[in-house]
Amino acid sequence: MKLLEDRIRRDGIVREGGVLKVDSFINHQMDIPLFREMAREWKRLFAGKPINKVLTIEASGIGIAAIVASEWNVPVVFAKKAMSINLDYDNYETQIQSFTHKKIYNVIVSKKFLTASDHILIIDDFLANGCALMGLLELAKEAGATVEGIGIAVEKGFQPGGELIRARGIQLESLAIVESMDAATGEIVFRPQPHHH
Ligand code: 5GP
Repeated sequence: MKLLEDRIRRDGIVREGGVLKVDSFINHQMDIPLFREMAREWKRLFAGKPINKVLTIEASGIGIAAIVASEWNVPVVFAKKAMSINLDYDNYETQIQSFTHKKIYNVIVSKKFLTASDHILIIDDFLANGCALMGLLELAKEAGATVEGIGIAVEKGFQPGGELIRARGIQLESLAIVESMDAATGEIVFRPQPHHH
């Protein structure tokens, strides 16, 4: 998505260790008009899918997912990170290794809010190693929900997550895919996506 790529080039900051900071428009301050354009692009890319719910994970996915849910006029459920094992049979539960915080989280979603009749669109801000998405896919599987697709704002194409997800045959639409980035020069190269606006 050209709008997002241009914004990343302008306001994104490339850090050492393959980290891209987008605090001024996604991860701290949130640019809602930009999120609205992103939601419209996903609406076009997932046209015809019977999506009745958006699923994301706290915290940074929630803002984007809320705007996306508004575009479809459906609820959004966010998986919660819990520090300790929660022996609560009313929840589906899995574990996720965090890229940014180098911790393992237990992640839960209530059985009330994710069920076998749900057709979900998973939304998140970043895709790196794919741990967060694998966790959300596991929760969806436990619930028997159908995953209609996955929408990611920024995929780091030089990390393995995207390939892992696509190999599963799930429609994954990342609005910007960073092929490479250079912390010294700040240069960012995006993967061409001809079917994207
Ligand atoms: P994964 O589980 O795919 O390795 O990482 C996904 C999560 O880590 C995202 O939800 C995001 O919060 C965080 N993340 C991974 N890489 C980056 C990055 O380069 N920049 C930012 N801002 N967040 C990242």
